[in-house]
Amino acid sequence: MALFDGLKGSSGKNKAEKDAARSEKDKLKYMSMAYKEAERAFEEGDVPIGCIIVNEDGKVVGKAYNRRNRDGSTTSHAEILAIQQACKKCGDWRLEDCEMYVTLEPCPMCAGAILQARMKKVYIGATNSKAGCAGSVINLLQMDGFNHKVEVEKGLMGDQCSILIKEFFEELRQGGDI
Ligand SMILES: [Zn+2]
Repeated sequence: MALFDGLKGSSGKNKAEKDAARSEKDKLKYMSMAYKEAERAFEEGDVPIGCIIVNEDGKVVGKAYNRRNRDGSTTSHAEILAIQQACKKCGDWRLEDCEMYVTLEPCPMCAGAILQARMKKVYIGATNSKAGCAGSVINLLQMDGFNHKVEVEKGLMGDQCSILIKEFFEELRQGGDI
């Protein structure tokens, strides 16, 4: 019994250590990866939005960028593509131990998919006053009445993510070849 309690105690401690281990440094590392994805979208002529999904061990299980123009597809948002990858990799539609890092606040479609996947937490770079569904227009991720709420942390590399999108639209206005 004492041994059992000991084991239980130690596994509990490991879990706490794991949670605590998602340090500011780790968060920046993952958001930087999402930012790199956003830059790829920029290069390919899509609004620069990138997304990374990390499992509870800190392993990247989804990595994608916005391909709406490139694919000519309404649903080719970074978050949807990353969720599809993560589900495939994890062999489960539930991603309840996973965290998402996305450079722009999710739209209604992506917030819906994040809820459906029961994602644990979403880290957001820039906010989106026109379509953001993590509090800007509506907070679908934390609404009373739904059977799941997603933890949200905003402003991780927010300025950088927002500047990238501004640059994209600036180039579009100037008729750049993007
Ligand atoms: Zn979206």
